[in-house]
Amino acid sequence: MSITDPRSIRISSNLLPADGRFGCGPSKVRPEQMAALAAAGPALMGTSHRQAPIKNLVGSVRSGLSQLFGLPDDWEIVLGNGGSTVFWDVATFGLVNKRSQHLVFGEFSSKFAEAVAAAPHLGEPTVIKTDPGTHPTATSEAGIDTYALTHNETSTGVMMPLVRPVGSDDALVVVDATSAAGGLLWNPAEVDVYYFAPQKCFASDGGLWFAACSPRAVERIEKISASKRWVPASLDLKIALDNSKANQTYNTPALGTVVMLDAQVKWMNEIGGLSACNARSAKSSSILYSWAESREWATPFVSNPAQRSQVVGTIDIASPAEGGVDANDICAALRANGVVDTDSYRKLGRNQLRVGMFPAIDPEDVQALTACIDVVVEALRG
Ligand SMILES: *Cc1c(COP(=O)(O)O)cnc(C)c1O
Repeated sequence: MSITDPRSIRISSNLLPADGRFGCGPSKVRPEQMAALAAAGPALMGTSHRQAPIKNLVGSVRSGLSQLFGLPDDWEIVLGNGGSTVFWDVATFGLVNKRSQHLVFGEFSSKFAEAVAAAPHLGEPTVIKTDPGTHPTATSEAGIDTYALTHNETSTGVMMPLVRPVGSDDALVVVDATSAAGGLLWNPAEVDVYYFAPQKCFASDGGLWFAACSPRAVERIEKISASKRWVPASLDLKIALDNSKANQTYNTPALGTVVMLDAQVKWMNEIGGLSACNARSAKSSSILYSWAESREWATPFVSNPAQRSQVVGTIDIASPAEGGVDANDICAALRANGVVDTDSYRKLGRNQLRVGMFPAIDPEDVQALTACIDVVVEALRG
């Protein structure tokens, strides 16, 4: 009665999504972006990042991002090599003055707090932590000059509204928006630094970091740079800022990543900007969560509907002992049918599926995914 190898389950092709990539980063790259990469050909690929064609491309990404986020004219889009993980080190050297407060509610939000705690030039950070599947709230605190928030905790599928803590004076609100940027809504008035990498909502490749910086953040960067603090050049935010203003990076970037990012940002602005991108993710997520609520063996992991992420969905599956199935078997069966990367975040250790619902992902494909999971679960239960 029971199926020994989930990979032997066949899903009929009329049920399959048009595109089977549901990973949370790297995530689905649209065919149009691959076409843009091919079209860029010898005019861009393999040419100097110090010359006009690549500088214009970087300029196009910077202005496209400002348009997408609706940034005031005095904000700067800063970029550098190394992805969001490296930006935590960049911020530890170049944004936190003395002490920071961190909201920790999963794997990614904990890592910036750890980087700051380990830095010999900074004071002990305050950490406000809640259980996975929820989020804490920032509260203003004397002596804190940087509030570190995470717009979307990718490891658990929790999103949080971005609000400047009341009474935080001239402290900076610095937001890890790696999986949120381009898919979730936010108000620049509530934020000073909104940083991310291009392999999530921007459907490009990893390896770069971007930070939208308010004038107040730029002032902080200049001030720390003028102090005597030692900063490694590759992590120096002032060097990155100066290069970015000239549409360059301190050292060589991956050009293909920038080409695919530019194509995606243009598409996002063309379809109606951030609100249209958010509407796609909101539609996908309402399909996923309402499906999970209607199955007796599936439950949205995040119990508060307002905190359920519109870009990263986490769905608990009942264990075999509870009449459900092993989520790893679901993922293996889906993968054998070309539907990939629905695995939960390893360290969370739950019997769970995790689904990327970034703007590039078609809501119809999320609908198709739920039908595929139904077929697989039925087959696994025998
Ligand atoms: C993916 C992710 C990161 C890490 O990004 P890298 O570019 O791989 O360093 C950091 N924070 C969040 C919220 C993420 O989703």
